[in-house]
Amino acid sequence: MLSVLLKYIEEKHTCPHCSGDLSICHSPSVHVGDGLGWGSEYLFICLNDECPLFANGWEYIANQYGHVGSYRHMEIPDSKETYSMMVVGREAFTGSIVDIEDIKRQSARYQRQQEALAAFDHCVERKQLEPVLTVLLDDSASTENKSRAVKLLVLLNDIACVEPLRSHVFKVPHLEHEVNLAINKVLANHFLKECPHCAELIKARAVVCKHCQRELAS
Ligand SMILES: [Zn+2]
Ligand SMILES: [Zn+2]
Repeated sequence: MLSVLLKYIEEKHTCPHCSGDLSICHSPSVHVGDGLGWGSEYLFICLNDECPLFANGWEYIANQYGHVGSYRHMEIPDSKETYSMMVVGREAFTGSIVDIEDIKRQSARYQRQQEALAAFDHCVERKQLEPVLTVLLDDSASTENKSRAVKLLVLLNDIACVEPLRSHVFKVPHLEHEVNLAINKVLANHFLKECPHCAELIKARAVVCKHCQRELAS
């Protein structure tokens, strides 16, 4: 879906009535069985209120049909089909405009995730923690990929992983548990532990925290 939208965003669609850019909107949810479906999840629509088709449509519809309404120019993506679509108000479709910035953000995030996953094969050998953290901290990554990342975490054995992972709220409890186990292993490998009072990293055999000076139960 993302790639289709990105393609539409790249495409240039202009209104023949006002020469303005068309907006990408979600198609109204109608039952295809009623013959009202547009056959596309998205539509290109001219939402320019100054557009002659729209501006003059009110009078035309009032004279012709005796009710309130106007027209918006509309194109069906991936086809040459265009329509003058009847709308009953100014706001029709303005609530269903596709958030292009959000789509671009999602796409950038997806791209980052793919790059991180591609780096998994050699990240241990190259001592790269970054790809592993990218996948673990991205809520949109799959559970399977996150489990792979947890395994790499232990192999990488880099204490720099502790802080970002501790600051992250994991939505899946078993993943959080796996991450905690991995962090404990990494800390143990470095003869370190986290102070239960101030969360700073300290020597595993410390009896007093050097950061908060509080005593630690042994
Ligand atoms: Zn227009
Ligand atoms: Zn402390």
